Amino acid sequence: LSILAAILAIGLGGPGNDLRRVVMSRCTTFLEREDPPNRRKICQTLWDAFTGAFVGRDQCEVPLEAYDQLVHSVPQKDHCHRTLFWSKTKHVVHQFTQGTKCLVTLEDTLLGFVMDGLTWCGRNGSRKTFTTGCPRWTQCPLNPVRSFWGRVSAAFAASACGNATVMLNGSLATPFDPNSTFGSIEVKNFNSSRMTGLAVVLVASESDSATCENSSLQNLQKALDPALKYSCKVVQQSQIQGCIADPPLACGKCW
Ligand code: NAD
Repeated sequence: LSILAAILAIGLGGPGNDLRRVVMSRCTTFLEREDPPNRRKICQTLWDAFTGAFVGRDQCEVPLEAYDQLVHSVPQKDHCHRTLFWSKTKHVVHQFTQGTKCLVTLEDTLLGFVMDGLTWCGRNGSRKTFTTGCPRWTQCPLNPVRSFWGRVSAAFAASACGNATVMLNGSLATPFDPNSTFGSIEVKNFNSSRMTGLAVVLVASESDSATCENSSLQNLQKALDPALKYSCKVVQQSQIQGCIADPPLACGKCW
C-alpha cells in the first residue's frame, strides 16, 4: 500500500501540480469575469506556453524571449487612456485599481493576474515544474520569474495607447529608477504612434516633500519620445485612499 501511495505522490502530487492548480484556477477565475465560452481551452494553452518557456531549462538561463509564445498565445485587450504603470507603489496601486476600476495595471490583465506573487522554475533534464529552490530575483538576471515579468511588461507597455499613467513613490529620493522594470523595460517599449502621453502621479505622504521638480523625474522626461505629452502631479496618499473609499462617478476626478 505504501508503495502505491508513493507512486501516486510522484505521479499526481509531485512538484508542479500545485503550480498547475493555482495557474489554472486563477486563469479560469479571471476569464469568468469576461466569460468567454472557451476559457478552459485558453487556460490550457496558457499553461502549455507558460511551462514551455522554462521546463527542462537551467534556472539561470531563461531568456525573456522564452515567453514570446506565451505572450502571443493569450487574448490581449486594448486599454486606451486607462493603462497604469507603477514602480515601488505596488500596494496602493492595486488597492486603487481594484477599488475604483478606473485604470488597468499589468496585474489586472490575464497574464499578470495569474502569475502575480508566484515563484516557479524548472531543472535541467527534468520535465517537472518547481516552486521551491528557485533563484531569487537578483540571484541571476535570467531567472524564469524575472524574465517572465520583463517580457510581459514589455508587451504591456508596447500595447499602451492614448494617455497612460504611472504611479511613482514620492517618498523616495529617486522616484524614477532607470534600472527598475518601469525604467529599463516599460519606458523603452512605449510606442509613440499608439500612446499620446504619460501622466506621472507622484504618490506622497504628509511627512515628505515630494516634488515634480525631482531630478529623477527630469530624467524620465528626457527618456521619453518628445512626441509624448508629459505631465506630473503630486497626489497625497490620503487623497487616493479617499478615492478608493468613495470612488467618483467619473474616472479622472480622483486627482
Ligand atoms: P518595483 O521596483 O516596485 O518592482 C516590482 C516587483 O518586482 C516587486 O514587487 C518584486 O516582486 C519584484 N522585484 C523587483 N526588484 C526586486 C528585488 N531586488 N528583489 C526581489 N523582488 C524584486 O517596480 P518596477 O521594477 O518598476 O516594476 C513595476 C512595473 O513593471 C509595473 O509597471 C508592472 O507593470 C511591471 N512589473 C510587475 C511585477 C509584478 O510582480 N507584478 C514585477 C515586475 C515588473
